[in-house]
Amino acid sequence: MTQTPLNQSIFRLVAGLVILTALTTFINVWIATDEQTREKLERDLSIAENVLQRVLQSREDLLYISASVLTADFGFKQAVASLDKGTIDSALFNHGQRINADLMALVSLTGSSITSVPAALKMDQEFPYPQAIESVISKGGYTSLMMLNKQLYQVIMLTVDAPTPIAIALVGFKLGDPILAQLKDITKLETTLQVYSQQNEIFKISTLPAPLVEQALAQINERPSWLSITITQDTPYVSQQFTLSDALEHQTIITLSEDAQLLFADFNSLQFSITALGIIVILLATFLAALFSRRISKPLVVLADIAKRIAVGDYTKDAVVETKTTEVSLLSKAFSKMQSNVQTREEEIIFQARHDVLTSLYNRQHVETLLEQKFSDNDNFVAIGINIFGFRGINDVFGYHNGDHCLEELAQRLSKFDGIAARLTGGELLWIPSQQPSQESIESIKSTLEAPINAIDVIINIKVALGLIYCPKDANNAEQVFKRLNIVLDEAQITRQFVLAFDSPLEARYSRRLSIITELKNTLDHRQEELSLNYQPKLDLQEGKVTHVEALIRWTNTSLGFVSPEDFIAVAEQAGFIEGITNWVINRAIKDAAIFRDAEVDVSIAINLSAKDIMNPALLPNVLDLLQANNLNTQCLSFEITEGDLVKDHNKAITHLQAFRDNGFEIAIDDFGTGYSSMAYLQNLPVNTLKVDKSFVLNLHENQGDQKIVKTVISLAHSFDMNVVAEGIENIQALTLLAQWGCELAQGYYICKPTSADKFISWYQDNLTTKWL
Ligand code: C2E
Ligand code: CA
Ligand code: CA
Repeated sequence: MTQTPLNQSIFRLVAGLVILTALTTFINVWIATDEQTREKLERDLSIAENVLQRVLQSREDLLYISASVLTADFGFKQAVASLDKGTIDSALFNHGQRINADLMALVSLTGSSITSVPAALKMDQEFPYPQAIESVISKGGYTSLMMLNKQLYQVIMLTVDAPTPIAIALVGFKLGDPILAQLKDITKLETTLQVYSQQNEIFKISTLPAPLVEQALAQINERPSWLSITITQDTPYVSQQFTLSDALEHQTIITLSEDAQLLFADFNSLQFSITALGIIVILLATFLAALFSRRISKPLVVLADIAKRIAVGDYTKDAVVETKTTEVSLLSKAFSKMQSNVQTREEEIIFQARHDVLTSLYNRQHVETLLEQKFSDNDNFVAIGINIFGFRGINDVFGYHNGDHCLEELAQRLSKFDGIAARLTGGELLWIPSQQPSQESIESIKSTLEAPINAIDVIINIKVALGLIYCPKDANNAEQVFKRLNIVLDEAQITRQFVLAFDSPLEARYSRRLSIITELKNTLDHRQEELSLNYQPKLDLQEGKVTHVEALIRWTNTSLGFVSPEDFIAVAEQAGFIEGITNWVINRAIKDAAIFRDAEVDVSIAINLSAKDIMNPALLPNVLDLLQANNLNTQCLSFEITEGDLVKDHNKAITHLQAFRDNGFEIAIDDFGTGYSSMAYLQNLPVNTLKVDKSFVLNLHENQGDQKIVKTVISLAHSFDMNVVAEGIENIQALTLLAQWGCELAQGYYICKPTSADKFISWYQDNLTTKWL
């Protein structure tokens, strides 16, 4: 749809209305005036005709009186009877003088003229109209227009009676230019008089100059319009014709003509005034319409402009527009309000879009933008990832409201430091200090963040890990920063290093961990043949024979090759696959236990368990079922647990372990000495063996410190009625020392490396009689 600007529409409407009104008035006035003028014309013409008739009538009356007086005059009668020409002429002359007659004559009854004053009719000449003579004699009088001597006369004829008619007296007025001029004086019309005899014009006079007469006569009864007169300019006369008399074979025709220019002169000036007025009104209206439409449309245009700016988010200009129109003023105020509302709402939306709802720190999306900005500015900066250790645990143990509170508090503490602070995910924050902090200040910031948190109903101690990414050295875009933060924070979590800077080996380890997760899942689901169990014997130092073996898992993957359990067990624990591994190990170990029994290899198989396994209530029933299915007793299996795993949910762990113990399983604390737990703590644990970590044993023969520790551990264990296993024995010296100190079991490469079930059986049989000490 084509659109027209408002001011143009208003302008067109107003101007159109005014022009229409002006035109209508103009046409109406025109029609009315034209009509009036025509009526006036008709009136003028008929008045003129009337006047002419009256003039002729009054002249006829005059003629009649004069003729009556003349014919009644006794002297005149006597002169006529006596044919006294001198007296007759003088009487005619005198009477004619009195009424200013143009023709006085005495005609014999036979029609031969006798005398006339002036001498229009010659003596002894036949009177040209014998019918008139007859009519006078028979009726006593006769009146008519008649041509006499090539002149037109109004004539009255009366008999001169003595007492019978003896002659005819004739009195006449000339119908000539003077009377026409007189008529024109009265009527203001041009008059043309024509006499026709048998269709031939025999006489013509006119008030019009000769050249115009023909033109006036040519357009009898034509009624030209004002327009045609104005345009053509060649119709100066409007004429009307009537027959004045038709007697004596002569037709007298009068043509009255009015000058059309004059006729329409008033009309012209009126039309001119109206036209001029119309034009003035139209111009004025046009001007006012333009002014008015501008007054309405200008603020609207300004408002439209403001709306466009609001649309692109520019709120700098006030939306109030100066106007005298109430509606526009209302609109402008509404605009102003809308602008401020839109602005506030936009600010709110922008804030929400950029900030984390819980902590009010920047969110991940926005900090990404800020990071990209820093990279494009070529800034040198450090991005510090902050991770709450075991944040999920906090949520689980203290509830989500307390977890949230922890985050809010931490965010508040963090936002006190200069720089950009953001929340990335769950318990992970990001801080980009405005100035690169020193190692000491990082430590002090860390301890500020770790201050105990007064949560809603508890005091929560939190530990945080800080992962540092130095940019652009360690990362050159936001995505890399996030990715490497994940890596460094993961590593910090796994290795329990609390402030850790990113370096490239870290990433290599990380991606290896990722591929381990992928491959391990595949192996467990589809390729369990990649897994195998090795056995490493434990030598009973008192009896000098092998009574236990430790089951150690082996994994040779198609794409990763051999992967050490040191590398994949921890990953499997984190990734949640450990249950699958443990099940596989237990199944295989129990099958092998049956094989060992059948081969008369009398050993108990120690299985390594993870924290998750201990907490798994299905594990014990499963083990018992499998043993029963293979006709094995609980002495066939024992378990090793790392002490760190027990600390997490102490009471539950104790309950579960107690159940194992109640069923006759031996349980050892693995890697003893590397954790934090005290002997007092161990005292309450339902375990019967301590397994001294190999780090204290590997160099036992030459390290006094290790010797002291191991000796102390052994005597302490014994005071708690526990057995001691030493692992990592690589030489005879260590074996000897341990035997001297009363250690119950020894395990190490010196005795035997972990090996397959088959090979172990052979080894076992080969070494039945070996003297180890
Ligand atoms: P661990 O339970 O402490 O196992 C003992 C580790 O020490 C084994 O390493 C073993 O090969 C090694 N070792 C034994 N004697 C010596 C020695 O004389 N010198 C040296 N240098 N090392 C010795 P391996 O098999 O690589 O296992 C590493 C760790 O993987 C284990 O440590 C254990 O924590 C875990 N692991 C192994 N198999 C399993 C399993 O089936 N389940 C679970 N949950 N963890 C397992
Ligand atoms: Ca172990
Ligand atoms: Ca160990």
